[in-house]
Amino acid sequence: ETDERLDAGPHSRALMQRAHAVTPGGVNSPVRAFNAVGGSPRFIRSAQGPWLTDVDGKRYVDLICSWGPMLLGHAHPEVQAAVQAAVARGTSYGTPTEPEVELAEEIVARTPVEKVRFVSSGTEATMSAIRLARGFTGRDVVVKFAGCYHGHVDALLASAGSGLVTFALPGTPGVPASSTELTLVLPYNDRAAVEAVFAEHGDRIACLVTEAAPGNMGVVPPEPGFNAFLAETCAKHGALFVSDEVMTGFRVTREGQWGLDGKVEGWRPDLVTFGKVMGGGFPAAAFGGRADVMGHLAPEGPVYQAGTLSGNPIATTAGLTTLRLATQEVYDHIGGAADVLKQAASEALSAAGVAHTVQSTGTMFSVFLCDGPVRDFNDASRTDAAAYAAFFHSMLDAGVYLPPSAYEAWFLSSAHDDEAVQTVLDALPAAARAAAAA
Ligand code: PMP
Repeated sequence: ETDERLDAGPHSRALMQRAHAVTPGGVNSPVRAFNAVGGSPRFIRSAQGPWLTDVDGKRYVDLICSWGPMLLGHAHPEVQAAVQAAVARGTSYGTPTEPEVELAEEIVARTPVEKVRFVSSGTEATMSAIRLARGFTGRDVVVKFAGCYHGHVDALLASAGSGLVTFALPGTPGVPASSTELTLVLPYNDRAAVEAVFAEHGDRIACLVTEAAPGNMGVVPPEPGFNAFLAETCAKHGALFVSDEVMTGFRVTREGQWGLDGKVEGWRPDLVTFGKVMGGGFPAAAFGGRADVMGHLAPEGPVYQAGTLSGNPIATTAGLTTLRLATQEVYDHIGGAADVLKQAASEALSAAGVAHTVQSTGTMFSVFLCDGPVRDFNDASRTDAAAYAAFFHSMLDAGVYLPPSAYEAWFLSSAHDDEAVQTVLDALPAAARAAAAA
């Protein structure tokens, strides 16, 4: 019955069977399960540089990079040494520590935030930023864009209501209507929609939250001036502009997406969320922003927020070491490798006659299997999921581990050398033909 080609090796399949018995869907985060592409996930035993090795001994060039964090590749010797030294000093004290201060200083130096608070996941970062925005403004309404993912925060797991200026509906069972009835969901890159909701509800809006450049519907860059327009519109109505840089932060440039727009254009978001790269492969995330807004957080102010493992010394050491090693050369290298892969993917898909669009922001890119441009979630939904599944499995067979979903960025690292890039180049033509045949 099952397509032999989709099968993982015997050790991965045996582990998946055991996992299914004790874990819903066999995984601890849904997209890992291959539901979107069919077949069974490879269980990874170890990783080095750009390479993953699965439990059956097969090697893959990693184009997931832990969904963004591994900017320097896997098992970077300096990050490992710093982490091992930190572990030797104990793993968690529940007191303030020096690495937290150093990592906060590094983030404040590289980004538009004046103060920062650490948490353990991107979800917590956006959840806390929204609470703070509500506490600071004394308002309740939150505006977000369809196709932007900000973690599994109840209020942000929301689907658009029946009209532009109507409130949202729960995006999943388990989220009560009362959690999304203060959320407005708009089409991305749509200035008129933003103007309409602020005209109707402006004095009730605590914040607008957006991915600084969406990467969770594939990469959909903000049109020129869009983020500036959002910041301006928020300011005009007394709402806070919350820029979610969990994915883009320290990845698309050394200053995140803000390095491409806000810094050049001379504006700052009121609050920013970070995660992924800043944790160096450990659970660390953060939110930060204007000092007066951050001053509303406990213990300085009245808005409560806390965490047992927040600012954990191992995680902050890994993040700090990663950011210190993430020099401009790292971004130049990743950008160069991205350019090579973007062009080769496009050429292979064109040669096979597969409709596609490659979109990018900074060093981050994705390949949509549909005609472009892709400006918003509606456009992204035109992606040919069956063609992507065939493309994905052909690449996997050839030793390239792409994200098992058509709506994801392809992540690279400074460890992606000529051999790794060549492995991807060699795999592309057959994968494009497989997509054409799907
Ligand atoms: N915001 C964005 C933009 C993200 O990409 C993600 C995760 N993909 C999150 C928030 C949530 O982060 P986490 O998975 O660490 O909760």
